[in-house]
Amino acid sequence: MGLVDEREALIDSLIRNQYISKAEVIRAMRKIQRHFFVPDHLKSAAYYDHPLQIGEGQTISAPHMVGIMLERLDLKKGQKVLEVGGGSGYHAALTAEIVGEEGHVYSMERIERLAKRAEANIKRCELDKRVTIVVGDGSCGLKEHAPYDRIFITCASPGIPQPLIDQLKDGGKLLIPSGSIYFQDLILCEKKGKKITKKNYGGCVFVPLIGEHGFH
Ligand code: SAM
Repeated sequence: MGLVDEREALIDSLIRNQYISKAEVIRAMRKIQRHFFVPDHLKSAAYYDHPLQIGEGQTISAPHMVGIMLERLDLKKGQKVLEVGGGSGYHAALTAEIVGEEGHVYSMERIERLAKRAEANIKRCELDKRVTIVVGDGSCGLKEHAPYDRIFITCASPGIPQPLIDQLKDGGKLLIPSGSIYFQDLILCEKKGKKITKKNYGGCVFVPLIGEHGFH
């Protein structure tokens, strides 16, 4: 099987196992080539439903987890989105595909070498006009482009960083793996005025959010 067929088989299995069902999520996952986002020696494993090492001790998340997060975040065309934990750029590229030309994704990554690679990967998908990679501590958010319609964090956080809540629009949604360094719950927060409602979508395991409002 070639990489294209492997990608189709992976997406079919994510649908069959009910990880993804929204048309825009399925379309984006069929289109964006995960093998652009993994190191050369792991390209043959790009369409396994596994996290993979991307260097610097970090990982690209498993496709089913990315799919779950895209579904739960309820992305719409034209939205401004903040990602904390850019990694390879794969999740940002999928998000950019869904929010479309009128939307924008700001993706923060603390490791400069990964950020540079993510930028190149995103350019290869011709999504560089819709995604801005920013090097820095995403636990503090990115105030200059706030407020955001959606915020998602792709690393494990000890709680919900207040700056991220502050930078979310009224009516906005934030998705975060929250818990210990070893195990977290995927929490969806909705902001309505001063009120934050939370829904738990179950257990997950991410690499840690390292920063002022994360782990130290
Ligand atoms: N979303 C990524 C992708 O599509 O490849 C996978 C992200 S990986 C699971 C988590 C990333 O979060 C790592 O690249 C790590 O360096 C980054 N990270 C950890 N703490 C951070 C922080 N405070 N600010 C920004 N990025 C951070």
